[in-house]
Amino acid sequence: MTGSGHVLEIRGLRAAVGGTEILRGIDLTVRSGEVHAVMGPNGSGKSTLAHVLMGRPGYEVTGGSVTLDGVDLLPLAPWQRAQAGLFLALQYPTEVPGVSLQAVLESAARAAGRPVDGVAATLRAEAERVGLDPQLLERPLNVDLSGGEKKKNETVQLGVLRPAIAVLDELDSGLDVDALRACARRVEAATEPEGDRPGLGVLAITHYSRLLHELRADRVHVLAKGQIVRSGGPELALELERHGYAGLVGAELAGEAEEETPVAIRPAIDDPFGGPAGADPFADPLA
Ligand code: ADP
Ligand code: MG
Repeated sequence: MTGSGHVLEIRGLRAAVGGTEILRGIDLTVRSGEVHAVMGPNGSGKSTLAHVLMGRPGYEVTGGSVTLDGVDLLPLAPWQRAQAGLFLALQYPTEVPGVSLQAVLESAARAAGRPVDGVAATLRAEAERVGLDPQLLERPLNVDLSGGEKKKNETVQLGVLRPAIAVLDELDSGLDVDALRACARRVEAATEPEGDRPGLGVLAITHYSRLLHELRADRVHVLAKGQIVRSGGPELALELERHGYAGLVGAELAGEAEEETPVAIRPAIDDPFGGPAGADPFADPLA
């Protein structure tokens, strides 16, 4: 990095939805070129964190601060946060009838005072990189796309927009193994500096460590009940895979998510009669 890196600083962030406090004091610092994974059971507040960072209406910030390069993001509208360099890949991308991806990205370029001419070509190159059918680029944004195509679409937007910091909310959900590899590789490549542009800083929210095989995390944080209860290096993701959230942070903090842990989806792994890893031990063998 050339010294002109970006930094997203989250300090003591608290937020409520519908009168219930969901985030209870989050501290995280993401710098250019760094990948931070946030893992945690269902309902722990991962998507809430993503939405609060991007400024989705309906979330009430009840304490703390969020700055990007020293600029207070919290009073800004989502589009202003985007212009400041923040990007969010949604867990459930929104369908926008009547507007193509190219039109969206051209508007974004125009709004940022960047040239619009190059957008179409960059868009096609980015689509090819993650294996998104170029025909889909003409269609209304996300309408009738499969879950996997929507996630590729988010990755393509990231590649064209080149934000400073990206928050990825379960980019891996809905992607098959090959698509996951392509998307994770694309994001990993973006973390490398290019010329005088510092590498992308990433906050990657995920349930599973498989995203992190290609997108290598510098730090892994475990979110439980709205707080970061453990932070560590990449080995923490593997530990989670082995022991589950309940094993790592205790059943109390892991809450309802026990059946969602990576350990639980591989029930056969220690069972010599259970068939291949991932097989359903309760399935009818003759079916
Ligand atoms: P995660 O992404 O970690 O699975 P979420 O951030 O989506 O968790 O949800 C955290 C908690 O906040 C859950 O208990 C959920 O029910 C609650 N929650 C999220 N959004 C809303 C909302 N719009 N209204 C009320 N409760 C919500
Ligand atoms: Mg979520």
